[in-house]
Amino acid sequence: MQIKEILTQTPAEQEVTVKGWVRTKRGQAAVTFIAINDGSTIHNIQAVVEGNNNINEETLKLVTTGACVAVTGKLIASQGSGQAVEVKAEKIEVYGTADETFPMQPKRHSMEFLREKAHLRFRTNTFGAIFRIRHNLAFAINKYFNDKGFFYLHTPIITASDAEGAGEMFHVTTFDIKNPPKTETGDIDYKEDFFGRETSLTVSGQLEGELGALALSKIYTFGPTFRAENSNTTRHLAEFWMIEPEVAFYELEDNMALAEDFVQYVIKYALENCADDLAFLEKRLLDEEKNKPQNERSEMALLEKLRFVVDNQFERLTYTEAIEILLKSKPHKEKKFQYPVEWGIDLQSEHERYLVEKHFKKPVILTNYPREIKAFYMKQDADGKTVRAMDVLFPGIGEIIGGSQREDDYEKLLTRVKEVGIDPENIWWYLETRKFGSAPHAGFGLGFERLVLFVTGMTNIRDVIPFPRTPKSAEF
Ligand code: ATP
Ligand code: MN
Repeated sequence: MQIKEILTQTPAEQEVTVKGWVRTKRGQAAVTFIAINDGSTIHNIQAVVEGNNNINEETLKLVTTGACVAVTGKLIASQGSGQAVEVKAEKIEVYGTADETFPMQPKRHSMEFLREKAHLRFRTNTFGAIFRIRHNLAFAINKYFNDKGFFYLHTPIITASDAEGAGEMFHVTTFDIKNPPKTETGDIDYKEDFFGRETSLTVSGQLEGELGALALSKIYTFGPTFRAENSNTTRHLAEFWMIEPEVAFYELEDNMALAEDFVQYVIKYALENCADDLAFLEKRLLDEEKNKPQNERSEMALLEKLRFVVDNQFERLTYTEAIEILLKSKPHKEKKFQYPVEWGIDLQSEHERYLVEKHFKKPVILTNYPREIKAFYMKQDADGKTVRAMDVLFPGIGEIIGGSQREDDYEKLLTRVKEVGIDPENIWWYLETRKFGSAPHAGFGLGFERLVLFVTGMTNIRDVIPFPRTPKSAEF
């Protein structure tokens, strides 16, 4: 039985065997308390070793923080406070010892330190909680779409198109990079490469997702995504997971409604299914905040913040309206923004955060961005200036979702493709969907780790993915 299950049993001196890793051992000769965790829950089970049992001292010495053990004994009502049941140990088997150099000793470690020990950080309360929540969110995402009649479409990881221009790409090749074959003109001869052309890791599954949606009507992708962003922010990874629903017959308004309902559903799922882990993380954050000056503390505790997002409608406004608000804002007038504000700019994080955290104090959906700052495939508005784009902005995170209604008119799309300098030959298959049975359709991309960041209240995206890939870092 896993510890999660044992902890719910009614104690009746039934025999149980607990297998897990020792978090702490304390006590004296007469009685020793061992806290064991197996990752099934944030809670440890306490094993009590009394002096008068048949566990020899040599074995007990090997039971140290970090060791892996199996403890067999009777499940009894706990004598102490803090837990309902405990195991009266009768037999201890030590699977693996851990000496005092085990890095995860029971004390507070910095997140930076734990990142350097990514192979062992799973064994801390914080990372146990984060990765259980991450799992639950992934499950909720699949459940949401399945229940709504969406099909999970697996789009390719290796791609020959950088049609979206969403980010710098990682090349995929089997060439000896020191000595690739060259053409007569001295360029690298990709015809000789594995795929017979230049290929990269995908920056988005959207273009292929659209092909699926224009047949299956409702699809979503949920897969790894790669961007060689050399930016080193707390919100960008070089390898992250993205969820991209794409729906035929949806317009921008339907897309917004889907994004809102979807995000609220998965957060609600976490609130209902990860209560213990969230309570732990909330307490951890509150403890951390005590060390901060009053004006830097957040206004809401974690659970309150999550409930707030679940219970309140997201604010919807156009990019143009947002610019007007920013132009009238105090930080703009007092020249506190680092970047200038004027119609046409790509909003910076400071602007997004002002809108979400200061002005509206809730998630915001911004729509109808200038076409020059958005991707070629977004449907053009009648004014010729803006496109049917939507970004969902979250407190503390900034952009969590980017999406749009797609251009479904063949001629308009082709013109735009050429304008932005993409060779139509490279995406002939994408363009053909607008030639044969084109349909209005829309979709969006949600960065999974940004969602996990929001739900866990963590502040660095490197701490919500098991093995983060960032510039100069791919150790584990
Ligand atoms: P940003 O402006 O934050 O870089 P973006 O405009 O490049 O985002 P999109 O191309 O619209 O983002 O991708 C859709 C979603 O994927 C974003 O809303 C975000 O949640 C997520 N995302 C984008 N880049 C990254 C990254 N490098 N690491 C993690 N998540 C990302
Ligand atoms: Mn980006």
